[in-house]
Amino acid sequence: MAAKRDYYEVLGVPREASEADVKKAYRRLARDHHPDANPGDTGAEERFKELTEAYEVLSNPEARRAYDTYGHQVPRGGGGGGYPGGGDPFGGFQDIFEAFFGDRFGGGTFFGGAGARRPSRGGDAEVEVELSLHEAAFGAEREVNVQTVRNCSVCGGVGGTQTRTCGTCGGAGIIQTVRDSLLGQMVSTQQCSTCGGSGRIIEVTCENCRGGGRVSEMASRHIRIPEGIEDGMRMRISGAGHDGDPGAPPGDLYVIIKVKDAPELLRDGDDLVHRMRITFVEAALGTTVEVPTLEGSRAVDIEAGTQPGTTLRIGGEGMPRLRKRGRGDLKLVVDVMVPTRISPEQRELLEKFEESSGKETYNGSGGSFFDRLRSVFR
Ligand SMILES: [Zn+2]
Ligand SMILES: [Zn+2]
Repeated sequence: MAAKRDYYEVLGVPREASEADVKKAYRRLARDHHPDANPGDTGAEERFKELTEAYEVLSNPEARRAYDTYGHQVPRGGGGGGYPGGGDPFGGFQDIFEAFFGDRFGGGTFFGGAGARRPSRGGDAEVEVELSLHEAAFGAEREVNVQTVRNCSVCGGVGGTQTRTCGTCGGAGIIQTVRDSLLGQMVSTQQCSTCGGSGRIIEVTCENCRGGGRVSEMASRHIRIPEGIEDGMRMRISGAGHDGDPGAPPGDLYVIIKVKDAPELLRDGDDLVHRMRITFVEAALGTTVEVPTLEGSRAVDIEAGTQPGTTLRIGGEGMPRLRKRGRGDLKLVVDVMVPTRISPEQRELLEKFEESSGKETYNGSGGSFFDRLRSVFR
């Protein structure tokens, strides 16, 4: 591994640079070297981490003093704390970036914060909601039960009703040990094992959470589902997930949408497709048919001589468009029924009909069935 570069050199600032200058230099360089701004450049992330590491040290007066004295020999301890089911082990790195740019960026970890363990954000929760096609079309409201982990309301998530400052670390959550070596003084930082990095010792365990600081709760939540939503979509309800560590934000709640099949009305994007069955006589003579719609039903005229596979389009009777104006169309596909059981009299009639029919009877019924069917789906 290459020798670590000097932090001042990395940020391009003199050793006597002010805190504001350090901040300004980092902001400028971090934008240029952000991996998202340099796609395909594998070195960008390394440079960005180096920048952020330099900034984290030089922007912290205590860490900067230690660096000025010991250089890179100051080992860094601590580490991102996390609790199962959520949290972000890469706290320090992203927090700095977010403070600057208000954005998250999925990077690796290179070190935890210099201080005690950082409180981590709560995990995300998930709930599934099943809707009818009608509800998906026009929106719905639902009460859902969501099981979430909450910070104990009695102790505020600390786990004890009486606490005192940890005597081992003095409340810092970390312990620094300094020892002399051939290379000079070595300072190492570790998470305090007495208090586990929290800086506080519990004297009276909270009975409500049995010291865990967390309780699992079933909460009812009112959810509004917008019109035009589709099967498989996920809605995010910010802050409605599991609680984070005390002082950290909660996770989000994801509502997963399931839309029940309606065999009469199949969804094709914003359009609805209905397979309409008429008899071969109705197809030949024309008729009026009642077809299902989202609102109920409506009458549709079928012209004489309508062919199987013909698609009729009724504008504006489809699904409302999500977050847009208007609605799709209702597409009616004509399916012609041919008799399967006929009486002797019917046979006679059909044979007479066939005898009196010529080529001209079927004129204009050209075009393949599949061409007509193809026009149903885009
Ligand atoms: Zn409690
Ligand atoms: Zn301690």
